[in-house]
Amino acid sequence: MEATQVHPRSISETLQKRPLIVSGPCSAETEAQVIDTATRIAKTGKVDMLRAGIWKPRTRPGSFEGIGTKGLPWLQQAKKLTGLPVAVEVATAKQVEDALHFDMDVVWVGARTTVNPFSVQEVADALRGADLPVLIKNPINPDIELWMGAVERIAKAGIKVIGLIHRGFSSYGNTEYRNAPMWHLAIEMKRRYPELLLLNDPSHISGRRDILADVAQKAINLDFDGLMIESHNDPDNAWSDAKQQVTPERLAELLDHIIWRKEDTNSQEFHAALDKLRQQIDHLDDELMQLLSQRMKIADKIGAYKKSNGITILQTNRWNEILDKAVRKGEKAGLSKEFIVKYFDAVHMESINHQNNVMND
Ligand code: PEP
Ligand code: MN
Repeated sequence: MEATQVHPRSISETLQKRPLIVSGPCSAETEAQVIDTATRIAKTGKVDMLRAGIWKPRTRPGSFEGIGTKGLPWLQQAKKLTGLPVAVEVATAKQVEDALHFDMDVVWVGARTTVNPFSVQEVADALRGADLPVLIKNPINPDIELWMGAVERIAKAGIKVIGLIHRGFSSYGNTEYRNAPMWHLAIEMKRRYPELLLLNDPSHISGRRDILADVAQKAINLDFDGLMIESHNDPDNAWSDAKQQVTPERLAELLDHIIWRKEDTNSQEFHAALDKLRQQIDHLDDELMQLLSQRMKIADKIGAYKKSNGITILQTNRWNEILDKAVRKGEKAGLSKEFIVKYFDAVHMESINHQNNVMND
């Protein structure tokens, strides 16, 4: 079998690479599928680590739930042929044992596991004493404390190298994304754990091929350290997540089109220009704060007035009027409806709280 042997690096060296690209099928299905996908991935020369799901936590029963432990030797074989390190998802102590027994280089904790502290603790306990990096996906619900809790549990088990994978958050009903990215949560994790590797998983965020590149580009624009993207030798016939997988060759094209950005530069000109613009931003933020404070002082007066006249705080008609007008004006001013609604909701809530304090005084 033809394979492109990549110069073997230690796993810690691999994880230092920027951008770090992890790819492979959603699920290992057959030996031939794993080997074909892995050799084609290696041939692109653009991927640093292979991934494949061996045990698949599926939302509903009846779909393919993973090939199980017998798939691990296929990954060993893929590693031997390509020189690329291999990563699998683990969710139970037995799975950790098997992954370690078959020398997986990296394991990751999936979104449906991060959500459950019992499961994360079981995985952490099974990992105790092991010396391999562990990547932790965000929980399926937008709860950053759970994500942090998983990091803490794995760290407490003595795991030295931990990374984060942002794969989006589930929500009810159809949206543009399979899992809403809620970028601010990933950014907040980066702020809390600046030293941890942070990967983006555009495959599970997108759930489809046509927006993969946009999501990946956005992650790179936001200074993520790399990507975990699913690729498959025959995506249309994949046993899981068919719609979001791409061939290794398509993956290479996608990566070629990404504009890779760096976090910083030495250019003094750039820094001078940026500083100037940032000063303007700081100045405007101060002004906005002053204006908001003035607005709340008026809310206090309104609260006092409503109180003495025995009137309720919330008057829905008035609020709808404000919101409609704001959205119309905002759109003309280049502000998205989504932002205006969020902004006015926040301002409105603060105003209600002010009036409530006055009424209860
Ligand atoms: C996967 O990586 O195939 C997977 C199951 O991901 P997640 O845990 O993000 O749903
Ligand atoms: Mn998948």
